[in-house]
Amino acid sequence: MSNPSSQPGVRVAKFGGTSVATAEQQLKVKNIINLDESRRFIIPSAPGKAFSDDIKITDLLYLAHDLAHNHQKLGDVWKTICKRFQDIIDELDNELQYPCDLQIHLDEVRDTIRSGKSTTAYVASRGEALNGYIIASLLNAEYVDAADVIRFDSKGCFDPCSYELIRNRCNDSEKKYVIPGFYGADVTGTIYTFSRGGSDVTGAIVAHAVDADVYENWTDVSGFLTTDPRIVPHARSITEITYRELRELSYMGASVLHEEAVFPVRDKSIPINIRNTNKPEDPGTIIVEDRDAGDQIVTGIAGKKGFNIFYIEKALMNNEIGFGRRVLDVFERHGISFEHMPSGIDTLSVVISDEALGNREDQILDDLKLLHPDQVSVYKGMALIATVGKGMNRAVGTAAKLFSALSLSEVNIRMIDQGSSEQNIIVGVEEKDTEAAICAIHDAFMGT
Ligand code: ASP
Repeated sequence: MSNPSSQPGVRVAKFGGTSVATAEQQLKVKNIINLDESRRFIIPSAPGKAFSDDIKITDLLYLAHDLAHNHQKLGDVWKTICKRFQDIIDELDNELQYPCDLQIHLDEVRDTIRSGKSTTAYVASRGEALNGYIIASLLNAEYVDAADVIRFDSKGCFDPCSYELIRNRCNDSEKKYVIPGFYGADVTGTIYTFSRGGSDVTGAIVAHAVDADVYENWTDVSGFLTTDPRIVPHARSITEITYRELRELSYMGASVLHEEAVFPVRDKSIPINIRNTNKPEDPGTIIVEDRDAGDQIVTGIAGKKGFNIFYIEKALMNNEIGFGRRVLDVFERHGISFEHMPSGIDTLSVVISDEALGNREDQILDDLKLLHPDQVSVYKGMALIATVGKGMNRAVGTAAKLFSALSLSEVNIRMIDQGSSEQNIIVGVEEKDTEAAICAIHDAFMGT
């Protein structure tokens, strides 16, 4: 026996909900694992949607929990959950390497839910916990209950002592281990989950613990695309992207990976490889700490609607010490966090999402007027478009190219913010121009 971290070429493979939704999908998982013996740590999600109108097991479990808490019968919801699991087991049949009888576990979960004493986290986590038994049998791997190795503190925050727990528990270099995603427990055994989509985080934690060469995140798309393909059908797959570029694009809504999944692997410079379970031959996208941008200026473009821009103008603002602080203080007093704050010599814009603002627009405007600005106004119904690329900080003429593409498409720019990283130019445009702006920028930098 030896520590997994001393083994060369260990890979952690996390499979998302659609990758494990049916027996057919789970067989694809088996093939992928069998293709490369370094894939020794497998992190499954709960079965997700098998077709577009289907309901994820996790959502059914939340529903069952709500029913029990409202003193209603679990009825069809519970039957559907049991049938989904049983169908997978029946269809996998002799592909299973050792007997997998979920009934005893299902009964236990049902009784706990019915007792009304179960926590939401416990119930939600059972989708991963139960599915883990099937995947472990299918892959002839050892099942490791995440409650034993993913530790949360009493406040529900991840406890880094988990790294050692994982290393100690999974220390046989000859074995494969299945660790269900999404949940863990505190020292008393109380179950906690990460936020939705949190199996990505479990995978990243395991990758950190075992010093993986690569953290493979298997999903239903072949990595990140240069932009939303519903807007630009010829959007291309991104081969390589840095953690920072990814963060900038994800923040603007380009989501394939859970936000918190980056931190555990970034600590150790472990690359994340987003792969497609339905097209394992595609190389997907590699997310790395640093890369040579070559002559590629822009990596991706993402847009998000639902913003308000508060515009404040005051002559000699630059000389008035504390003015910016007083502006931000207005938002802080209302408990509103801001997204961006581009400024000029005598102007300041504060960008607030619809969600954060709620219906407090008039109160904010009144409070800002108390600061005696020359002008204060708000542009509503705005979209932010982020153009992200590591190569931007070296390339001359990037902004000019971007703005002329927008003007040729007759898109009016209401706000410009170039992040100090110089890897991101954000423009604020009217929501109705979002799609036109994204198309124009994409085609200017990526070609048509
Ligand atoms: N099953 C959980 C969810 O649906 C976690 C995950 O799939 O990553 O959010």
